[in-house]
Amino acid sequence: MRALVKTGPGVGMELQEVPLPTVGPSDVLIRVQYAGVCGTDLHIWEWDSWAAGRMLPPTVIGHEFAGVIEQLGPEAEAAGLLAVGDQVTAEGHIICGHCRQCRTGHGHLCRRTQIIGVDRDGAFADYISMPATNVMTLDGIPPEIGAIMDPLGNAVHTVLEGGDVPGETVFVLGCGPIGCFAVGVARAAGASLVIASDLNPTRLAIASAMGAHVTLNPTSDDVVVRIRELTQEDGADLVCEMSGHPAGHAQAFAAARLGGRVNLLGTPSQKTTVDFAREIIFRGLTLYGVTGRKMYSTWHQMQRFLRADQLDPRPVMTHRFPLESIEEAIAVIKDGTAGKVILEVVP
Ligand SMILES: [Zn+2]
Ligand SMILES: [Zn+2]
Repeated sequence: MRALVKTGPGVGMELQEVPLPTVGPSDVLIRVQYAGVCGTDLHIWEWDSWAAGRMLPPTVIGHEFAGVIEQLGPEAEAAGLLAVGDQVTAEGHIICGHCRQCRTGHGHLCRRTQIIGVDRDGAFADYISMPATNVMTLDGIPPEIGAIMDPLGNAVHTVLEGGDVPGETVFVLGCGPIGCFAVGVARAAGASLVIASDLNPTRLAIASAMGAHVTLNPTSDDVVVRIRELTQEDGADLVCEMSGHPAGHAQAFAAARLGGRVNLLGTPSQKTTVDFAREIIFRGLTLYGVTGRKMYSTWHQMQRFLRADQLDPRPVMTHRFPLESIEEAIAVIKDGTAGKVILEVVP
């Protein structure tokens, strides 16, 4: 089969012919139709310090995908929930099931998580083998949307954690694909006012298409002042920090109302300075670090939003490329003009 392989240290990936993955007793073999290209794949392409410190190539890349089941191991078959021909997607974090986090319903924080396309072979290939317990049927959700349910799930997790969104004011700081998804999730969940900010006008236009009531650009707007004006001087009930920028954190804390929530998904590449007393403690803020998707409550919430047509992520999906055009796909992500980029493997 064809696969995009990180062959070793250094920039790039190679399209290679590789053997079909093995299918264990509790695994399913999935023919990949669509795959999402992610910021993580850009880090791997560029081979930055994170990738160099974590990966042991050769590795097939890609962790966001949807496809069709072609084969089931005997235990997966006996479980009776999946069948050949089912259109499916999968949670890309493969967890141990044994550690304290897994055993207490917090598998998204498993201490031995293996991520497909990072720690083991991934989905930028004709086929991928996955544990059946990670696989979910799409049941009418289009497969190109199935392919981006991993990052969409990050947005669902970020917006819905820790409070009641209906009627609330939500500020989404940073409008990369997951930030734009978060705007749509906040609208679907019944937020009364959704404000989005980014430096990039193209991304702000996508946030508007996803339902942002107001978009702010820090190059021309005083974001915190504008949010206070828009919320009768309260500040936002929920701030979703999706930028990971050091200035983003200070702005996120300042934009939250007293007693508000700041759910943090953006990952800073360096240490940031926080004045905990003044920015967080005396303001009574609750901070939450978002890792992955809750297994599997986030997925079920997301499936219901999608099947009910309350959430449509398609305005974020701006580019499609065939598998062999990965270099172009990486280039549009890098120059900041893209929303979500999809690889068409075998549609
Ligand atoms: Zn991703
Ligand atoms: Zn575990």
